[in-house]
Amino acid sequence: MLGSMMRKELLISDLITHAGKYHNDTEIVSRETSGEISTTTWGEVADASLKLASALGKLGLETGDRVATLAWNNHRHLKIWFAVSGGGMVCHTLNPRLPPEQFIFICNDAADRAIFFDKTFMPLITGTKAHLKTIEHFIFMGPRDEDVLAALPEALFFDELIETGADDYEWPQISEESPCSLCYTSGTTGNPKGVLYTSRSTMIHTLAISLPDGLCLSAQEIVLPVVPMFHANAWGIPYAAAMTGAKVVMPGPGLDGDSLLGLIDTYKVSLALGVPTIWMMLLASAKKSGSKMESLKRNVIGGSAAAPSMIATFRDDYDCETIHAWGMTETSPLGSGNQIKAKHLELDSEAMADLRAGQGRPPFGIDLRIVDDAGKPLPHDGKTEGALQVKGYWVVDTYFGKDASALTDDGWFDTGDVSTIDEDGFMVIRDRTKDIIKSGGEWISSVDLEGIAVSHPGLAMAAAIGATHPKWDERPIIVAVKAEGADPSEDEILALFDGKVAKWQIPDAVIFTDAIPLNATGKMLKNKLREQFGNTLIERGA
Ligand code: ADP
Repeated sequence: MLGSMMRKELLISDLITHAGKYHNDTEIVSRETSGEISTTTWGEVADASLKLASALGKLGLETGDRVATLAWNNHRHLKIWFAVSGGGMVCHTLNPRLPPEQFIFICNDAADRAIFFDKTFMPLITGTKAHLKTIEHFIFMGPRDEDVLAALPEALFFDELIETGADDYEWPQISEESPCSLCYTSGTTGNPKGVLYTSRSTMIHTLAISLPDGLCLSAQEIVLPVVPMFHANAWGIPYAAAMTGAKVVMPGPGLDGDSLLGLIDTYKVSLALGVPTIWMMLLASAKKSGSKMESLKRNVIGGSAAAPSMIATFRDDYDCETIHAWGMTETSPLGSGNQIKAKHLELDSEAMADLRAGQGRPPFGIDLRIVDDAGKPLPHDGKTEGALQVKGYWVVDTYFGKDASALTDDGWFDTGDVSTIDEDGFMVIRDRTKDIIKSGGEWISSVDLEGIAVSHPGLAMAAAIGATHPKWDERPIIVAVKAEGADPSEDEILALFDGKVAKWQIPDAVIFTDAIPLNATGKMLKNKLREQFGNTLIERGA
C-alpha cells in the first residue's frame, strides 16, 4: 500500500456538528411568525437538531423518507433542516405561494410522510388536508397551541416533539450519495418537477458558494437570507453559514421593505440575499427613512435579472457592492456569480458597471456553454447568443420520480435561458427562451428593455413582452406599474430608450397597469401578461 487518506463521507450532519462545536456562541437572530424576535446560537441549533432527528426516528420516519416544511426562514426551520437531512431523511421545502392544486400535487408526488408548518399556513393545511394522501404527521412549528388543535386535532407540536428525542442520539453515518433535500421548480407551465439533491452535491455546492469568488461567506459576516428557504434552499445560505460560522438573521414572514430595513440596521447585517422585487421595496423604505444601511457591505441579487440602475443605486447611494448571480433550482442553485478578476481593477467606471451588470462567471464545479438550435456549441466571444447549457457537481440529472435523464445526449442540462459568454466566462442572460421578443426574425432581449424602463424613477416595475404585430409577428411593448405618487407619461418612458438600443428595438407602446402578476418565487408571469396585453398593438390599429 502506498498510503492513504481518511475516507469520510460528505454529510450535512458534519456541517451542524462543526457549527455547534466551533461557532457555539455565534448568534442566530430570528423573527417569529408572531412578529417577535428570538435569539439562539449555532450551539443550540446543533443540540436541537440532533434531538429532533432522534424524535423523528421515534415517530417511525426512516432513511430516505420525505419530511416537508411549509415555513418562513426562522430558527425552527433551520433546526428541522439539519435534523432531517443530518438524520438521513429528505427535507422537502414547500412553496406556500403555489396555488393549492399545485401544492397538493407536489406533496403527493413527493410522498411526504410528515409536514412541519408555521402558523401562517394553517389555512393551507386545513384546506388541502383531505387531498394530502401520504402525510401521517402534521407538526406545528411552535409550542402547544389550542387554536391549532381545534382546527387540526391530530397536530403534533415541535416544542413537545423535540423533547421526546434521546440525548445520546448520534448522527447516522450514511453514504454521501444519499438524498438530503428536495425542491420543486415553480412550474410556470405544466406541473412542477422535483430536484433531489444529494449530501455530496449539497456539500460541494456549499464549499463553492462560501468561497470569496462565490458568495463570500465567513465567520465575520452577518448574513440575512431574504430569499426563502423554500426557494432553491435559500440559495444554500443556511448550509454555508453553518460551514463558515456566519451569524444569521432570519427574516421570518417580514419580507416588506420596512421590516427588512429594521433588521439590517438593528443587527448590522453585512450581507443580504434576495430577488429584485425585494430590493425595490427595501430601497423605497431606505429612501423614505433616510437610512444609509451602513453595515450592508454586499448584497446578492438573483432569481431574475437585476436592473443596472438598481446595482448603481446600491453602489452609489449605499456603498453596497452587488453580486449579481444566476442559477436555478436544477443547479442547487448557484450557476454563476459576478466577481471580477485582477485585470478588471483598472476598468473605468462605465466599463466596470457594464461588466458587473451581467450574471458573472461560473465557480469551479460548474461549466457553461451556449449552443445553436442544432445543439452545436457556439463561440464564447461575448456577442454570440445561444441556448445556455450547464454541467457540474451540483446540477440535476434526473427529476424526482422520473426514469429518463433530463440531460442532452452529450450530458449537459439545457437551462431554457438564452445568453452570451465572453472569453473569461462572463455570462449575460439575454432572456428566457420563451420570453425573448422576436421582431421580424430578429431577437430583442426583454431583460435589456426592462432594465432601461425601470431606470425611470416614476416606475415601480416593468415587464417587456412581445405583442402580436401583423407585419413583424411581434413587437416589444412595456407593461409598467407606476411608483407611488408618480405619474410618468408613455412618451416620457419611450424617450428613455433613445440611443440606448437600436431604433428597431425601441418598444411600440407602454401600457400602465396596477400590478404585474408574480409567480411563487417573485418572478413576473409574462405568459399571463401576454394573454392580457398581447393584442394591444392590433387593438391600437397596428
Ligand atoms: P423557476 O424556473 O421555477 O422559475 P428557478 O428559481 O429555478 O425557478 O428559476 C431559474 C431561472 O430564473 C433561470 O433559468 C433564469 O431564467 C432566471 N434567473 C435566475 N437568476 C437570474 C438572473 N440573475 N438574471 C436573469 N435571470 C435569472
